[in-house]
Amino acid sequence: MSDLMDCETCGAFTVYRRSHKCPPVWLVRYHDYAADDATEIYAHEAEEAAEKFIDESETDGCMEPDDVIVSRDGYEDKRFSVTGEYSVTWSAREVTK
Ligand SMILES: [Zn+2]
Repeated sequence: MSDLMDCETCGAFTVYRRSHKCPPVWLVRYHDYAADDATEIYAHEAEEAAEKFIDESETDGCMEPDDVIVSRDGYEDKRFSVTGEYSVTWSAREVTK
């Protein structure tokens, strides 16, 4: 079996499966949602968890800031305002005629 794979638990792309360790799991929800509605997100930092949550939740392309609550056992809840921005990629193509 190849060592190249996505981790079945956290979804991270891993080159060396044996040395892969899943990041901790955080519970993330919109600030006005009940704690029961939180989504499990694997991330190394609370900030990363907030960003991943919005990345997976926002499907309407809305870039308005969203406030989310990030929780983890043994840590105080943290609130983040998450904003997004599009980046533009330019490409040039020679015009010959
Ligand atoms: Zn993993």
